[in-house]
Amino acid sequence: MTTNVNRAADAAPLIAEGDLPPARFFVDGAFSDASAESFTEVIDPCTEELIARIPDGTTEDVDTAVAAALAAQEDWARRVPKERSEVLHAIADRLAEHTDVLVRLEAANTGKPFSVARDDVASAIDTFRFMAGALRATTTMAAGDYAENHLSVILREPLGVIGVVTPWNYPLLMAAWKIAPILAAGNTLVIKPSEQTPLTTLKFAELTADLLPPGVVNVVTGTGPVVGARLAEHPDVAMIALTGSVRSGRAVARTAAESLKRVHLELGGKAPVVIFEDADLKAAAAALRVASYWNSGQECGAACRVLVHESVADRLVKELVREVSELAVGDPRAGEDIEVGPLVSKAHFDRVLGCLDRALSGGARAAIGGGALDGPGYFVAPTVLVDVAEGSEVTREEVFGPVVTVETFTSEDEAVRRANDVPVGLAASVWTESARRSHSVAARLDSGTVWVNSHLVIANEVPWGGFKGSGYGRDLSLYALDDYSRTKHVMHNHGR
Ligand code: NAD
Repeated sequence: MTTNVNRAADAAPLIAEGDLPPARFFVDGAFSDASAESFTEVIDPCTEELIARIPDGTTEDVDTAVAAALAAQEDWARRVPKERSEVLHAIADRLAEHTDVLVRLEAANTGKPFSVARDDVASAIDTFRFMAGALRATTTMAAGDYAENHLSVILREPLGVIGVVTPWNYPLLMAAWKIAPILAAGNTLVIKPSEQTPLTTLKFAELTADLLPPGVVNVVTGTGPVVGARLAEHPDVAMIALTGSVRSGRAVARTAAESLKRVHLELGGKAPVVIFEDADLKAAAAALRVASYWNSGQECGAACRVLVHESVADRLVKELVREVSELAVGDPRAGEDIEVGPLVSKAHFDRVLGCLDRALSGGARAAIGGGALDGPGYFVAPTVLVDVAEGSEVTREEVFGPVVTVETFTSEDEAVRRANDVPVGLAASVWTESARRSHSVAARLDSGTVWVNSHLVIANEVPWGGFKGSGYGRDLSLYALDDYSRTKHVMHNHGR
């Protein structure tokens, strides 16, 4: 059983002198002297120690940053694709050179194991490389004669200034998923990282300051209801892109409606894992060990809701419990083999424990885990819940922690109905050896991504985004470039 939190008694601090970025806003190519009157404390969730105090931006701070982004946009957009591509490649190179410090900052700020933080940084670098290539292949869309004596040219144009709001679960990676396609398409931006995890976004600004023209990327730290809301409201912001909770997505969409700006929302998930009686149960359990507990389950696509055919449910639970019992939980400083870290904050830890308590007092049983692990730090035991009531909170609401529920079904129709019976639809997986069944079920699932005999594998070439309450718009791939571009038709009369 995983009951111990691995800790390192005499490990060197994760953050060395000079690693921390300036605790200021990055506007118009420089770290400005914030005149902030309030600050947010950035905490190490493994030790509960203070790492930094980051200024809370005001409406005026956002307005200054938007003005800088607006002033920089025309020149950035005018650069030929090759030039913008070279800048994106240079950013990727710079991030790669500083992988070590980015990994340590991310691990300290979020408690991520090194394996997760390293994967985040490598994926972020690949996003810049992918977009650097993609932007050169997709600039002009089409040309042709579609009306007599008229030549049509259909152009892809940038939108202008984009407001970006990111969450705490993948701070650098979610910033990269937005910044790379936004810049590739010729836009400039103002980004507000999560107030809990601003360090790697500020570090990104510091590391890339000499590569980008002033004003192209601006960072204003602070809270959602002030900085995020002003970005959604600002008349000079052409589009707002948010990755976060359904609640924040709704608030942003409501505010953005006033100016009719374009909205891109990557919101929560509650991914079903549909396991049929002919599936390879050992392979499914081994995959869930990663896909359910990666990033402590603080993952919008996490494999958190298992629906398994009743005839193989006991065997699946046994395999899953065996896998979960072997998970190494701990502080990243305890070593490279740590697989699961703490939750990001005390508030989130209390939320997850509250949800677990309600599930357990409502009749669910923990086949393994089921509560908090010893502090300091916000560690929750990797948990598998069985006997959960259909339609109960833990099966419908995003827990966003290391908690998997297991429910059973008896027919394909029932499996599909229950998989779809949540308000969100980001990701799902189907486990079966039958090609007919995998095609048919994948087609019927209300989900932006469906994996077959796999879960949580993501690549820069393929789109990521949800259906229903999971939002709209796509990250990654050429679809993201489309999202951050507008289409213009110019028609030339050549008949005179
Ligand atoms: P959150 O919604 O609390 O915060 C996300 C961001 O929105 C933060 O920067 C926050 O300050 C800001 N925000 C909050 N209220 C706002 C408002 N009224 N106006 C503008 N901005 C506002 O989410 P979180 O707790 O940081 O992140 C976890 C959530 O993110 C989960 O629901 C998870 O599923 C989702 N998520 C989704 C994806 C995806 O790709 N679909 C990826 C990662 C995380």
